[in-house]
Amino acid sequence: AIDLKHIRQNPGLYQQNCIDRNYAAHSNSPYRIINLHEQWLALQQSARSLREHNNQLRGKLAKAASRSGDAEGDPLTHDKESLINEAKVVKAELSEIEDKEALLQEEIEGLAQDLPNLSSTHTPVGTEAEVTEYINDHPDPDPAQSDRTWRSHVHIGTELGILDFAGAAHTSGWGWYYLIGEGAMLEQALVQYALAVARKRGWKAVAPPSLVYSHIASACGFQPRDQHGEQQTYAIEQAEKDKAKPALVLAGTAEIPLAAMKANQTLGDGELPLKTVGVSRCYRAEAGARGVDTKGLYRVHEFTKVEMFAWTLPDNSEQEHFTRSMDSSSDAIFEEMLSMQKEILESLGLHCRIIEMPTTDLGASATRKRDIEAFFPSRREKDAGWGEVTSTSMCTDYQTRRLHTRVRLEKAGRKLEFPYTLNGTAVAVPRVLAAILENHWDDAECAVTIPEVLRPYMGGLEKIQGH
Ligand code: AMP
Repeated sequence: AIDLKHIRQNPGLYQQNCIDRNYAAHSNSPYRIINLHEQWLALQQSARSLREHNNQLRGKLAKAASRSGDAEGDPLTHDKESLINEAKVVKAELSEIEDKEALLQEEIEGLAQDLPNLSSTHTPVGTEAEVTEYINDHPDPDPAQSDRTWRSHVHIGTELGILDFAGAAHTSGWGWYYLIGEGAMLEQALVQYALAVARKRGWKAVAPPSLVYSHIASACGFQPRDQHGEQQTYAIEQAEKDKAKPALVLAGTAEIPLAAMKANQTLGDGELPLKTVGVSRCYRAEAGARGVDTKGLYRVHEFTKVEMFAWTLPDNSEQEHFTRSMDSSSDAIFEEMLSMQKEILESLGLHCRIIEMPTTDLGASATRKRDIEAFFPSRREKDAGWGEVTSTSMCTDYQTRRLHTRVRLEKAGRKLEFPYTLNGTAVAVPRVLAAILENHWDDAECAVTIPEVLRPYMGGLEKIQGH
């Protein structure tokens, strides 16, 4: 379902897009696709002539059969035999060509599937993100003048007895953790709070599966290894009796099972925008990436995330055939996701900045991506304290083409098109929990103040007090 014609007609555009997005290994694919397509056309031509030839032979055979006496030594019988032999040769040649055609098709599809989505005009080309907005005042705008004692969440969590990394290292290794007591309750409070914010705006809660087929993850833009060859997903070892079944992986994000919920389905245009919010455990191999963030909750292998996922009408629909209200377009949903993230982070009292991500950070599926970074005192030595807490992606029809999700446009002659998809983090628990601990810690008091919006979900608790 990839738009191969668009790729063949715009090879330069797709090649430059690969270069801009750091997909250099795929940058020749558009031209390779054109070359393979030409070979495929030539095979089609040969197959057509062979089919014509075959039809002629069948005509001749039918004629011969009606006239023949089938007697030994009859010249007509001899003709028939040679016709049958000729037809056999033609059929064998045809089948060989059809096999070659299928292989070419497969190779073309594979190359096209692996191309990243085209980048939007909002996306800065290169590696530099653009800061577009700040949320809440900086808690320590002038560190040189400040006498505030900052602590890392590892120190705070251990002091309060609500985080345990050393214990988890025995259980699962480094990169895993226990949340204990108020730590575990904070996770539940964040999930409940994010769900409440989303549900208030009409997002429907979904509890998705954690195991997904590997080909489904790929269709959503998640390959087992990223473009730098680093392992991204954990694969499941299948039971002996299931070895022939498609491979299963642990989903790194609810985005995958949410997107797949509508795979091979046709949606009604009246259903869109369809807004869902999933709560899931996310599993990430993070091979290679943990090096810089080996301590604490910042980069872990398993975490809870509340994720928004929406389907919208495609923006390229023939607008004269039906009127779209502003809030049904993908731009409006993109803004809605951002405003919910802002509402959540602002009310948690975190100092944040919103950034427009550059082409090299878009991954495979996004045409446009905006992240929100929060200030982590423990990261002041790194990136001036900034660390990503949410990510919002507009994926146009990248995922729906690969998952065969369609929308029927009633007012456009019931035409079938591919809807657009968008995904955005409502709350990714570990980083937000770490930011809350670090930003709301009072060293003298040895206590963390719980943001007001979370207190109703924590039995009214105002502080987590250490001793
Ligand atoms: P992503 O789906 O990669 O865009 O990530 C969404 C959000 O999940 C990020 O903005 C982070 O807050 C969080 N996140 C991603 N990877 C990890 C990880 N390995 N450990 C903890 N949080 C993560």
